[in-house]
Amino acid sequence: MRNPHAGSPFEATDADVAQALLDVSVPTLMLSCLHITGDPSIIRGPLRPAGLFLNEVQGYMSEEDKSDARALALEIIGSWRDQGCPEPAPLSPELIHEMMSWLVCEDVPTEYVPMLLEEMGLDGTDARTMGPIGTESQRADFPVVVIGCGQSGLLAGIRLAEAGIPFTIVEKNAGVGGTWWENTYPGARVDVGNHFYCYSFEPSDHWSRYFARQPELQQYFEDVMDRHGIRPHVRFSTEVLGAAWDEETATWSVWTQAADGTQDTLVARAVISAVGQLNRPNLPDIPGLDDFAGPAFHSARWDHSVDLAGTKVAMIGAGASGFQIAPAIADAVGHLTIFQRTAQWMFPNPNYHAEVGPGVQWALRHLPFYGRWYRFLILWPGCDVGLHAARIDPDYPDQQRAISETNEFTRQMFTEWITSQIGDDPELLANVVPDYPATGKRTLQDNGSWLTTLTRPHVDLVRTAIDHIETDAVVTTDGERHEADVLVLATGFQATRMLAPMTITGRDGTDLRTMWGERPFAHLGITVPGFPNFFMMYGPGTNLAHGGSLIFHSECQMRYITGCIETLVGGEHRTMEPRAEVAAEWHARSQAEIQTLVWSHPSVTSSFFKNTDGEIHIVSPWRLVDYWTWTNEPDVTEFILE
Ligand code: NAP
Repeated sequence: MRNPHAGSPFEATDADVAQALLDVSVPTLMLSCLHITGDPSIIRGPLRPAGLFLNEVQGYMSEEDKSDARALALEIIGSWRDQGCPEPAPLSPELIHEMMSWLVCEDVPTEYVPMLLEEMGLDGTDARTMGPIGTESQRADFPVVVIGCGQSGLLAGIRLAEAGIPFTIVEKNAGVGGTWWENTYPGARVDVGNHFYCYSFEPSDHWSRYFARQPELQQYFEDVMDRHGIRPHVRFSTEVLGAAWDEETATWSVWTQAADGTQDTLVARAVISAVGQLNRPNLPDIPGLDDFAGPAFHSARWDHSVDLAGTKVAMIGAGASGFQIAPAIADAVGHLTIFQRTAQWMFPNPNYHAEVGPGVQWALRHLPFYGRWYRFLILWPGCDVGLHAARIDPDYPDQQRAISETNEFTRQMFTEWITSQIGDDPELLANVVPDYPATGKRTLQDNGSWLTTLTRPHVDLVRTAIDHIETDAVVTTDGERHEADVLVLATGFQATRMLAPMTITGRDGTDLRTMWGERPFAHLGITVPGFPNFFMMYGPGTNLAHGGSLIFHSECQMRYITGCIETLVGGEHRTMEPRAEVAAEWHARSQAEIQTLVWSHPSVTSSFFKNTDGEIHIVSPWRLVDYWTWTNEPDVTEFILE
């Protein structure tokens, strides 16, 4: 069978191909040509990328070099087409490694190569799937309940189906997608490049934008669900209220409630929680909020029946959500007042709103391995480099401003980008340049739309604290009344209340959330002592603040969980749970590590990463390559097997 990444044969004319090549990432194109010809001299000559920055896909090549490279590629591709587009011969691992380093203009350390090869799947296989586990009767005896059908729950379903395990996914919403089902606010889009923010085993030649908007993302999960036949396994519009472990039968009872109030109990040998961290709205505790007379709604509960045309809108909060909402509604509204408590760091991304042109889509479909290398090109600049930059140098002076020399450099770069757009408005500038170290909170990206919006005459950015809300206004502590017809609460989520509001009861009736308090922990973010056969995806300590993609993390977690299930289904044990000391050691090590990173720094006073004591238990302090290595397969010596 032809390698699915080897490019589908085509008959386009030279002129059509030349037109398509005008659009593509030239360094990626050159690697595709190397696959076609097997000739490494293509990357050993003077035509090469000159530098790397996230989302800069031309490697800063000069126009002349790009033009020469395209001319060479046209010859190679034309001759390949004339031969009927044969499948290229595999390249040696050494050459692939050389290609990696060439594309990103830096030495890709050897320890990363296995992870990258697996993620890219150049050999056309999906190394993260397992195939059927155990015998048919063993599998039939091991029903699993998955809680949630967002990106991680859907993935869990796909992998369980491949393993032949019977499963039910319970989803509180009426459709698939989780975050991408709930966040329908104007302007909602992903901010990890879509050719990486998608499952590694699914095609990625269809995206209409480099950073897709919510409807396209939701449709993607819909399509993937149907391609893998997962829909019949999902109970939509049904919420899991809780789950309890039964020692006698070694099963979980999972209580559900459908939208019509009907309650049910599902019995499972294992439970996989895939509920995410960002889905329970954080509603601000502001006096008078309930007195507001007009429509008022949270960003993740957008009320599309409200016509904003000509209205006065007050938006409280401007983190990642508010940052996208303001530019998207500014044209329609009569007046927009944005209440931002803390300014946000952002970096430039000119492609943020860009469409994927037909040339790129053609290349993704027809040029061998173009899409795989493009995935790597988007992945690599966000792969662990951000973690190095987030490390606190305790000897660096003026820690309020920056936590290291690298961090000061980042601050200057980000500040220049902000300043270059504001022009001579010192008051606005003072309001939009953050006063805490760069990347101290989740860093945003923009193509200029946020700051352009703030400079519009009918848009105000208010940094004065809110005192209270009246029927028709938000009143700040300086006594000023900001009149409003509509109130938008872009105030984020209750991220630190992991798994709330479910009640999960393990051995001896222990309640998981009570046991955790404000310090949730799980071994590798996946398993908890005293909670046998209970697994989490996107659990404690796995949110990614330094780069990567949550889908990548989910694929790591689900491979590990499938490995655990294989141990149980095919082996002699009914239950597994991590040894208490293993989980405690992991938690202590993660805590020690996270305290060395900028997000923990006391100068970052307001952040949804932090609990009320200023500790961080939900974010990963680990390199992607380490997490990938640790989750490759479960180490059974770390578990109590009964
Ligand atoms: P967020 O980043 O937590 O931002 C919440 C905003 O509300 C902040 O400006 C916060 O101020 C403010 N706020 C909270 N409580 C307040 C109060 N009582 N009074 C006044 N202001 C208050 O939430 P988010 O914007 O919804 O984003 C959350 C996460 O969702 C992101 O970090 C990201 O992981 C994800 N997300 C991603 C995308 C994307 O991919 N593009 C888009 C949206 C969301 P302070 O900053 O001072 O706390």
